[in-house]
Amino acid sequence: MAEPKTYSYKLVLLGESAVGKSSLVLRFVRNVFCEYQESTIGAAYLTKTLTLKDCIVKLEIWDTAGQERYHSLAPMYYRGAPAAIVVYDITNRDSFERAKDWVRELQKSGGVGVIALAANKCDLEPRRVPASEAEAYAEDSGCIYMETSAKNNINVAELFQQIAIKLPKQE
Ligand code: GDP
Repeated sequence: MAEPKTYSYKLVLLGESAVGKSSLVLRFVRNVFCEYQESTIGAAYLTKTLTLKDCIVKLEIWDTAGQERYHSLAPMYYRGAPAAIVVYDITNRDSFERAKDWVRELQKSGGVGVIALAANKCDLEPRRVPASEAEAYAEDSGCIYMETSAKNNINVAELFQQIAIKLPKQE
């Protein structure tokens, strides 16, 4: 039998500071969680390989920092990335509004084909963004929607897996 094909993709994480971008990446790649996660300085780069049914997908994950404060740098991060995860914190309404801004910006830029909206910290209360509202928004804007907890390891692998499945596999 022929070896399964390997495809590589750049994936970026965007969203307000402290919503859990680094925590999601570290949970996914290393299966760890840190209550006092240090802020990312600049951009951290990690890779993870997923085995799908018919192929292998290598994700080159850019966990960006500074895009919250230095917005003008953001296009540098997502340029050439076919996929993005936009993260918000379900207990922080502002972070959801900010996430919607990111989705709009990515869609305007045209290059990022697969966008996932991660409703993170779903282990926490009180919830400030109803799941039904975020889900409806994601559906309208053509995004994957996933409720995640980096802390309790809920839907983290599923989030990355769904993106990997949706990415185009050119011959
Ligand atoms: P970033 O700035 O978006 O990369 O956010 P971090 O990954 O640094 O996380 C910010 C804070 O939120 C840290 O104290 C994390 O431990 C915490 N955190 C991240 N994800 C979760 C989660 O799913 N649940 C809970 N309860 N806390 C989380």
